[in-house]
Amino acid sequence: MKTIGYAAHDAHTPMVPYGFDRRALRPDDVAIEILYCGVCHTDLHAVRNDFGMTAYPCVPGHEIIGRVLETGPEAGRYRAGELVAVGTMVDSCGHCDQCAQHAEQRCREWATVTYGGPDRITGEITQGGYSRHIVVRERFVLALPDGLDPARAAPLLCAGVSTWSPLRAWNAGPGSRVAVIGLGGLGHMAVKLAAGLGAEVTVISRSPGKEADALALGARAMLLSSDPAAMAAAANSFDLILDTVPVAHELAPYMPLLEVDGTLVIVGFVGPFPDFQAFPLVAGRRRVSGSAVGGTAETQELLDFCAAHGILPDCEMIAIQAIGEAFARMEQADVRYRFVIDMASLESVA
Ligand SMILES: [Zn+2]
Ligand SMILES: [Zn+2]
Repeated sequence: MKTIGYAAHDAHTPMVPYGFDRRALRPDDVAIEILYCGVCHTDLHAVRNDFGMTAYPCVPGHEIIGRVLETGPEAGRYRAGELVAVGTMVDSCGHCDQCAQHAEQRCREWATVTYGGPDRITGEITQGGYSRHIVVRERFVLALPDGLDPARAAPLLCAGVSTWSPLRAWNAGPGSRVAVIGLGGLGHMAVKLAAGLGAEVTVISRSPGKEADALALGARAMLLSSDPAAMAAAANSFDLILDTVPVAHELAPYMPLLEVDGTLVIVGFVGPFPDFQAFPLVAGRRRVSGSAVGGTAETQELLDFCAAHGILPDCEMIAIQAIGEAFARMEQADVRYRFVIDMASLESVA
């Protein structure tokens, strides 16, 4: 299938229109016309080759909302015209213990990422959602429930499930005290979802200017990390802390905030942390953990939960032609809280 997207051809020049082929349908494939695609920080890192692993040309995008065009003969779950979603993975081994419980993000043979990873059969490098069409194995296609606005649902597929998965794994709900460090794309979803689950939510931020937003998103309070007295007064007051900060930072100031047996989960950063203090862990039997996106079962659960509870990301819709400007604004943290590309803007591309 011929399609068109926007690709980066190197780390420095702007992304440009790029015609390429999607694979012919395999028996269990679904062909999708993409309507919307969220803009994730990972896209920016991939385009700029920040991890030194980008294969060019690179069509990023792994927060995909679309409409089914066609299905393979063994793909019976969806019909043409249905609204569907695709997240950060498009394939996995399918037979390991993690795949068996639909936690494909932890596949023992590594899941195939939506863009920039080798196809399991051909080895061809996958291309993502900044494009008109995509072909995906049915197992990795999620149903978009009725009542979920397709124009705003895209960020649930990465930012949403990255925070939903740890909230569910650590049983956030009524009676639990959850703190969220950082109020960006992930953080704003963490607040909405934790509040939606019934937890008591606090946003931890350096900027007093974030307080109004934090409360509007569903937090009960904001804790100013730059205020030593407030931080000391908040000792032992959280069962779960979601750390969504996307850059290197110190963990030490946050550990004493955890209750005995409490857990801080890193969801925003994969690099080295500058310090590690064992004392607060030892003293309070506290834990530091990590979590990456979520499997197909959790992602479908999240979509269904958001439809039932009227929870949607806060989005700013852009045309694909504005992607360079959107990346620049993301670097300045100048977005509330997620850019979403309206793929109809591709129509004007020759
Ligand atoms: Zn992402
Ligand atoms: Zn597997």
